[in-house]
Amino acid sequence: MHRVYLDNNATTPIHPDVAAALKPFLDEVFGNPSSIHWGGREAKTSIDKARDQIADMIQAKPAEIIITGSGTESDNYAIKGVAYGQKGRGNHIITTTVEHPGVLNTYRYLEAKGFRVTYLPVDSYGLIDPGDVKKAIGPDTMLISVMYANNETGTLFPIGEIGKIAREEGVLFHSDMVQAMGKVDIDIESLNVDLASFSGHKVYAPKGVGALYMREGLEIDSLIHGGHQEAGRRAGTENVIGIVAFGCACEVTKREMQDQNRRIDDLREKLFKGILERVDRVGLNGHPTLRLPNTLNLAFESVEAESFLIALDLQEIAVSAGAACSAGAIEPSHVLLAMGRPSRVCQSAMRFSLGRENTEDDIDYALSVIPETVNRLRKKTSTQ
Ligand SMILES: *Cc1c(COP(=O)(O)O)cnc(C)c1O
Repeated sequence: MHRVYLDNNATTPIHPDVAAALKPFLDEVFGNPSSIHWGGREAKTSIDKARDQIADMIQAKPAEIIITGSGTESDNYAIKGVAYGQKGRGNHIITTTVEHPGVLNTYRYLEAKGFRVTYLPVDSYGLIDPGDVKKAIGPDTMLISVMYANNETGTLFPIGEIGKIAREEGVLFHSDMVQAMGKVDIDIESLNVDLASFSGHKVYAPKGVGALYMREGLEIDSLIHGGHQEAGRRAGTENVIGIVAFGCACEVTKREMQDQNRRIDDLREKLFKGILERVDRVGLNGHPTLRLPNTLNLAFESVEAESFLIALDLQEIAVSAGAACSAGAIEPSHVLLAMGRPSRVCQSAMRFSLGRENTEDDIDYALSVIPETVNRLRKKTSTQ
């Protein structure tokens, strides 16, 4: 059977060039980057190179890149780092209702610690109004967090505009850019962000490595204390293999990005049009144009997403439904609920997220399976 992976927003396979670049690190290069001898120097040089590659991807300076253990850690580091390290700035934080749990749950934690958090609402496309950001800023606002691209719908936020407002008002600005990296050209300087989060496994590197962009000169509290790694900002012996992979993935992804985005966008449109032609009562969740080229979030009326996902999985198609699964149960997506979608729409939402390995064949196969599966599930519901 034809195996089709349409869940690239959850994670991506390791790029073959990245896998090749890792080979020496599985045997020859094993030193501790902090060691003075040849073993340490080799490892240290590899990390320096990777840092350059990551910085180059977002047009930052290498010293502005701090390697972390995940996108989630970068979110935590940025947010708690400002909250505890910039106390003089105030006690109020602004974010949106549709952030990744890495951001949302960090703010919930800070609320319990006495910080005041404003969660800005989104419209039916999942977008916030930059005017609302401006209105929410008060004399004690210390930080604004707005994601660049939403992981569930692919909706793109006007980060440049929000960055300009934050800069004018003298408020620090953090953006979770995990889903934007590799899909959108990022010129970090021009966006007026102070902090930005990234993750390796969303750009064809392995899981367990991330990065935080921190604008030059900014000082925030550290999350992890210990040795002097990452210029004393993030302690712990470095995940050399993961870091080398992330660096290499940035270089390769940057090189392929334009061509891949065009190709992936075409495949996504083919899937979208194909489904609309073959299946009735389907609606798009998210913005029709201001969105990532690879993401398609659809509501299939009267189809329960969990059954749909399992039925597609039985036919070797991997997709995602609702938000992340908690203990195997799919909960209605907080993103779609925030967009004011009725709960029956949230219960029937499927996310298709494409990547560099997808082919025309994958889409043809998906289109041969989806209509019949939807019809079968709808019949079952109506006869129950
Ligand atoms: C995947 C993801 C994260 C978390 O990154 P991890 O490396 O998996 O912790 C954060 N934000 C967004 C938008 C994501 O899609």
